[in-house]
Amino acid sequence: MNSHLLTLQPACFWKHFAKLLEIPHETGHEQALAEYVIQVAKQNSLSAIKDELHNVIVYKPGNPNRSTVILQSHLDMVCEKTPNSQHDFQADPIATQINGDWLETNGTTLGADNGFGVALMLALLEEQNQNWGSLELLFTTQEETTMAGAKAVDPTWLSGNYLINLDGARLNRITIGSAGAQDVDLLLPIQRTQPPQQAWQLEIKGLQGGHSGVDIHRPRANAIKLITEILLPVCEKINLVDLAGGNAHNAIPNQATAIFGWVEANSANQAKLQSLIDQTLKTWQKREPNLVIELNQTSDARPALSIESQNNLLSLLSELPHGVLTQHPKLPKTVMTSNNLA
Ligand SMILES: [Zn+2]
Repeated sequence: MNSHLLTLQPACFWKHFAKLLEIPHETGHEQALAEYVIQVAKQNSLSAIKDELHNVIVYKPGNPNRSTVILQSHLDMVCEKTPNSQHDFQADPIATQINGDWLETNGTTLGADNGFGVALMLALLEEQNQNWGSLELLFTTQEETTMAGAKAVDPTWLSGNYLINLDGARLNRITIGSAGAQDVDLLLPIQRTQPPQQAWQLEIKGLQGGHSGVDIHRPRANAIKLITEILLPVCEKINLVDLAGGNAHNAIPNQATAIFGWVEANSANQAKLQSLIDQTLKTWQKREPNLVIELNQTSDARPALSIESQNNLLSLLSELPHGVLTQHPKLPKTVMTSNNLA
């Protein structure tokens, strides 16, 4: 399926990356990939250990007069796909094609984060003509969610003087230092009344989205914010049934859907909503050229939220901050604090 990768150089790297694409490795399901790492280590007569969380360490002895270096990458990947993709991240290999200088997938994430780091370390593990110091090759798990893998690594596994993490986002740059992150889960109790006579679906899609740790400063729209801005001004004219958006805590939401009914389905109310949709499209058309907002009748028998619950929800989503909160006082164009509403 990905045999075109085997023609690329350096071959010692691409053969492992091609193999990675065949082994599903969503966060929390890293066992199979961890076993592949162990297998490669064994084939090269290197000692390796795997723990309960499927973290793996491989020891590659080197020149004793040089420093021991720890290399780290993470085995798990973010699994995202386009809404019409049939891909099963638990079972299917990720199909790719080469387009110019780019390696592309068919509507799924590629897993270059951090498959490139993993494949690079496997290539180094097999390197024969080295005069480096010893390498301690550390592969951790659940990086994309809780860092549970890295947190549980047995410190006695490591003796190296230096650690280089291969999970960077930019070519030809070394990052010194790191940022912290915190998840806040909000739970808003709601009450429901009765189903609307006719349900409508408002859908926002086609936004660029992106990684909240990398793209938060870019002029991109958050689908949850957009749908809230459209609905809030007509809050008293609708009965909201459902509001959903986003896929992951670290992905900027690129789609959102609201189900609602009209309190009074008159043309004035509908025109007001349409003007809010048109205004949003106009505001974002340059920065989000693929933005689509669709309004269609739908069948949904669920009861609507009470007026109070609906007001609470839309007000909360409107008030919650999204995007850059503060810039670094000294370093230009450097984000200090940001929030991803997702
Ligand atoms: Zn990563």
